[in-house]
Amino acid sequence: MPSSSNNFRILVLGGTTEASALCRDLEKEPFISATLSLAGVTKQPHLPTLSVRIGGFGGFDGLSTWLKTHEINAVIDATHPFAATMSQHAATACAVTQTPLLRLERSGWQETPGDTWFHAPTLTDAATLLANSPKWGTTPQRIFLTTGRKELAPFKTAPQHHYLIRSIDAPAPVSLPPHATILLDRGPFDVQNEARLMQDHGITLLVSKNSGGSATYPKLEATRLLGIPVLMIDRPAACPNIPTVESAQQAMAWLRAYQAASTRRKV
Ligand code: NAP
Repeated sequence: MPSSSNNFRILVLGGTTEASALCRDLEKEPFISATLSLAGVTKQPHLPTLSVRIGGFGGFDGLSTWLKTHEINAVIDATHPFAATMSQHAATACAVTQTPLLRLERSGWQETPGDTWFHAPTLTDAATLLANSPKWGTTPQRIFLTTGRKELAPFKTAPQHHYLIRSIDAPAPVSLPPHATILLDRGPFDVQNEARLMQDHGITLLVSKNSGGSATYPKLEATRLLGIPVLMIDRPAACPNIPTVESAQQAMAWLRAYQAASTRRKV
C-alpha cells in the first residue's frame, strides 16, 4: 500500500523496459507515491525499490475495486504493446472509476530499405501461413521464433519446420512444436551476436512481434545484413481516446502537469 505521507498516488502497470525506466524516475519523486504492478509472468523480474504488487487484479472490476481501495489518482499503462487484455481492462476500470489514464507505449519498428518483411495480424495467422501458404508451407524452414514462451502452441500446426525458440524463461514442453531448440536469454542483444546466432542455426526466417524498442532491434538489423526475411506480427489495435506517450520522460511530464493541476484545484 502506498505511503500515506505522499498524497498523490499512482499505479504503474508494468512488465516493460519503459515501465522500469519510469519507476527509476518515480523513485526520485518525493511527492508521488507509486506502486508498480506486474502480472507475475517473468520468474525473476528486475524490481524497483518502490512498492510492487504482483498478479492479476481479477478483471476490470477487480482493478476498479483496487483503484478505489488504494485511492489511486492516476494510472500509467506501461504494459507491452501486445498486452491488449490488460490495456482494455485499464481503460474500462479507469473510465468506471473516473481515474485519469495515460498509455506509455514505445513506437513500433518500421521496415527500412534492405528489409524483407511479411505481415500477419496475429500469431495464429502467422502459424497458419507457415502451415499452409505456398510460400512456406511446402518448404521446411529453419525459423527463429522470438514471440515469447506463452504463445508457442499455434506453431504446432506447422510441424514441418524447425524452430529456434528464444525466451527469458523456459516454455512448457507441451506447448512446443515437434522440432524445437530452446535458447534461454534476455536482451539487450547486439547485432554481431544476433547475426552469428542466425548463421550458426541456418535460420531462413525470423518470426517476431512488432514490439518496438532498442533492446531486441538488433535481430532485425541482423536479418537485414544476412538477407533473411521476417514474418512480422503487427500490433493489436490500441484502446481509442487514451492519451499516449512514448517515453518515461514524457510520462513524468504528464504526471507533473496533472499533479500540479490537481493541487491548483484543491487550493
Ligand atoms: P494480457 O494478455 O493483456 O493480460 C492477461 C492478464 O494478465 C490480464 O487480464 C491481467 O489479469 C494480468 N496482467 C497483465 N499485465 C498485468 C500487470 N502489469 N499487472 C497485473 N496484472 C496483469 O498480458 P500478457 O500479454 O499476458 O502480458 C503480461 C505481462 O507481461 C504484461 O505486464 C506485459 O507488459 C508483459 N509482457 C508481455 C509481452 C507480450 O508479448 N504480450 C511481452 C513482454 C512483456 P487480470 O485480468 O486478473 O487483472
